[in-house]
This record gives sequence, C-alpha cells and structure tokens, in this order.
Amino acid sequence: MRPTSPLRRVAVYCGANLGQDPAFRQAAGTLGRTLAARGIGIVYGGGGVGLMGAVADAALAAGGEVIGVIPEALKAHELEHKGLTALHTVPDMHSRKAMMLALSDAVIALPGGFGTMDELFEALTWSQLDYQRKLCGLLNVSGYYDALIAWIDHAIAVGLLRPVNRELLVVEDDIERLLEVLLTRPFPLARKWMGR
Ligand code: AMP
Repeated sequence: MRPTSPLRRVAVYCGANLGQDPAFRQAAGTLGRTLAARGIGIVYGGGGVGLMGAVADAALAAGGEVIGVIPEALKAHELEHKGLTALHTVPDMHSRKAMMLALSDAVIALPGGFGTMDELFEALTWSQLDYQRKLCGLLNVSGYYDALIAWIDHAIAVGLLRPVNRELLVVEDDIERLLEVLLTRPFPLARKWMGR
C-alpha cells in the first residue's frame, strides 16, 4: 500500500521542451518517481512532450496518479499524453490554470519557459492574495533559476516584495528537501499590503 501524505496532489509546471541540460530531464523523471512513491498525485498540463512528458511518464511507470488539464486548442495539435490517469479538456488557458490549482494542494515548478513562469506566478499571486493557501516549490536544477532568485531578492531589497511573501516560494535544488519543506512549512499568514 502507498503511504498517505498531507499533500494529496501537486501541480507540476515545467517546460514543454526538454532543454539542453540533461539534468533537467533527470530531475523531471526523479520528481515523477518520487511523487508516485510517496503516494502524491500529479496535476499538470497534460502534454506528452518535453519535461512535462518526462514527469508524467516517470510517475505513471511508477504507478502514480497523473491528471492532465489541457485546453481544447492544444489538444487539437495532438500533443496530449495518451496514457494518463485522467485528462480534463477545458476551453482555455485561464480555465486550465484554475483547474490545475483547484485539484492541487501545492505547486512545484521545474525548469521551463514563459508557460511555466505564467503558471508559477499566478499560483504565487493567488496565494499572496489569500485566494488560496498553497505553497509553491521551485526546483533550481543546475542553477537554472539563479537569476530569478536574484531578482526576487532585489524586489525585496527595493521594497516591492514583502519578505513574508517570499516564504510562499520554497526554493531547493534537491527534490526530497523541497518536498520536506512543502510538507512542513506553515503557510505564511501575515501578508499585509506594502505601505499599510
Ligand atoms: P513553457 O514553460 O513555456 O515550455 O510552457 C510549459 C507550461 O505551459 C506547462 O507547465 C504547461 O502547463 C503549459 N504548456 C505549454 N505548452 C504545452 C503543450 N504543448 N501541452 C500542454 N501544456 C503546455
């Protein structure tokens, strides 16, 4: 029997491409297997390509639950994964992002491009606004997100991001450590607006 976790499902955001660093694909596979082994389901974009496909394939091969949420238009390009536990088709990107979050207890972003950043920052801003109480994990594979982390530090330094809101984002380069923090860090609640 699989272990039970307070994280029932995690939304995984990552590249529709594989990228050039083989460590990206390795991390995607390890994340898929690790979540499956812990009995944590995956909700993701539903694609069969790139790092997204690598996460889904690894989790499915390890007997994990993988739920895809794909907009109609992308499905038409036949890019959807054919072997998922479930695949929800939605009308547009907004519905997809809302559904992915509604089905998940936390978020993990792997290396990716605009799509990954769009999803991660929407999840962060919804948590910041208390629309939801979900921590967001960022797996910093091969230092891919170093520049993003530096920008976050800069935004705090110049008073555009509150340090307490920074705690919504858990940055680690190791998957097990990332999961431990997501499982144990209390949701930071004192999120008042800047300047008030
Ligand atoms: P990107 O980071 O720009 O490669 O975009 C990847 C993210 O956007 C994923 O987390 C997906 O949810 C979504 N996405 C982009 N392209 C696709 C696709 N062809 N199939 C499914 N989801 C996609």
